[in-house]
Amino acid sequence: MYALARKLPNTKPENVMVQLIPSQDAVMQILQKTAAFREGHFIYPNGKHSPHYFQMPLAFRYYDTARVLAVALSRKFRLEKDISSQLPKVSVISPSSGGIPVAFGVRDALNAEQIYWAEQEHGERQFRQYVNQGEVNPCIIVDDIIRSGNALKETVTLVKSLGARIIGCGTIVRFQSAPDEIEGVPIKSLVDFDAHLYDDGDKCADCKEGVEPEHVRY
Ligand SMILES: [Zn+2]
Repeated sequence: MYALARKLPNTKPENVMVQLIPSQDAVMQILQKTAAFREGHFIYPNGKHSPHYFQMPLAFRYYDTARVLAVALSRKFRLEKDISSQLPKVSVISPSSGGIPVAFGVRDALNAEQIYWAEQEHGERQFRQYVNQGEVNPCIIVDDIIRSGNALKETVTLVKSLGARIIGCGTIVRFQSAPDEIEGVPIKSLVDFDAHLYDDGDKCADCKEGVEPEHVRY
């Protein structure tokens, strides 16, 4: 009996779930295939040059792709006892419109009760009026991409204004230069990307080679 048990694969739930999370390479392939990730010579609105460009909503325009990415992220949350033990009494929060499909997908996979999303109004990140009324569950903040972490930091302030505790944070792509934790909560990501950003053309390899740049929006 013992010999037989030893040969069986380890099917404890946490092990099975880890195997079901796609690798960083597999996620990058999805982003490349949907053109959410492209390579070239790009200039951002802040004047920085980069050989890479992420436009994450391009991956989320396909329902099947959106689902794969959100479910993968949700599995990382489910592995956390502090999160899984509180479900379904959990809120999933997006800092902006880009994170809304992630929030809905993660909510679906976790069967969490609430969703909130912030928006930029008059240059300020805010929730809709009266959203702080009623019970607000412990929060997971999710986004499609974390570049600097500024949107995340502003959202943490907002969540605190709701009087809610932050129990999780995650994103599909996180630039390695961005924070990897917020308020002591680790930021989970499917891809940790080593982004190359140059302050100006002088340091940009593509400029040196005379490659025509493309001006992009965030
Ligand atoms: Zn350049």
